[in-house]
Amino acid sequence: MDFSRPENARRINRLKVLSALRKKPASKAELAAMLQINKVSIGEICESLRSEGLIEESGKEMRSQGRPGVLFSINSKAGRVFSIIISEKAASVAVSDTLGRILRFERFPKAPSFSEDLRRVMAKLAGNARIYGIAIVSDEDIQLDIDAPSIRIPFSVAEASAEMARSGPLGSFLFISWGYSITASFSFQGTPVFLPEFGHIRASREGRCGCGGKGCLDAVTSGRALLARTGHPSLKSLMQDKAALRDALQPMAAGIAQGVQALSAESVMITGAMSQMDDALYAYLQNLVSSLLPPRRSGMVIYRGAAGENGAAEGAAILALDTFFYDSALLAKLEAIESLSSPAL
Ligand SMILES: [Zn+2]
Repeated sequence: MDFSRPENARRINRLKVLSALRKKPASKAELAAMLQINKVSIGEICESLRSEGLIEESGKEMRSQGRPGVLFSINSKAGRVFSIIISEKAASVAVSDTLGRILRFERFPKAPSFSEDLRRVMAKLAGNARIYGIAIVSDEDIQLDIDAPSIRIPFSVAEASAEMARSGPLGSFLFISWGYSITASFSFQGTPVFLPEFGHIRASREGRCGCGGKGCLDAVTSGRALLARTGHPSLKSLMQDKAALRDALQPMAAGIAQGVQALSAESVMITGAMSQMDDALYAYLQNLVSSLLPPRRSGMVIYRGAAGENGAAEGAAILALDTFFYDSALLAKLEAIESLSSPAL
């Protein structure tokens, strides 16, 4: 994209305004100062975004002197995005507003009529709203027949996005999604980057993996592997089996220690269904990992994700909005270019 062409510059300035208002409401004067765009252009952009229904007036500035400006905010009703979470035995669909708030949620079992069930649930949840796009979270390669733009996201990236949205940018975290399968991502410059091979770190002497390897983390300690080994019917019932979980933490600790060292991660956060194990098991895992790390790194902390079961849907909504409504990737690219071309600090 040629950023110097007027129509492109205008599109980028629109995205900048939307992105600023996503964080908090602001007046035209505040936007002009914040984004370094002249007031006339800001006025034009706000007027066109307002007439398209993407932003709305939401009150007056708090100001002790002078005339308070009108505050603009994102019109949360401007459209919707879907998160589709496909798990082992069930799927869930969440519909969120343009600020990423989940409005409605429906879960249904995976049956042979999956495609029809999915379409019916989506039609019901969408109502008359405009659908900007869909984020599909799955660790299987399912082809979905849906007629809206979509992206596919691994569990760990969705869940890490939800955690970052809740707590603000985290440092160099290794995020491990521990559910039916194990996936991981690493926070790099405020974005979770997927680590596709994490599940295939060698964490045990035993256990054949689908990849052809032996003792892979995913093959020995994923929810799927643990259910097969213990005979528990569901992750919920497995979560009550403290002895089985303790056993599962040995290879998990080995995987974490290797991942943390290779990435120089400061901390670890576990998300997904299995992250709900109790504090005593976290303390046990922490001890195991500390004993495997060099002494100077033994203070590395393992956290439990805060979003719980909703993490995947919340994170997927954020990423769908980033992609289909706010076009965050374009702005990030532009920022990178600007930082390269600006004079040395
Ligand atoms: Zn493997």
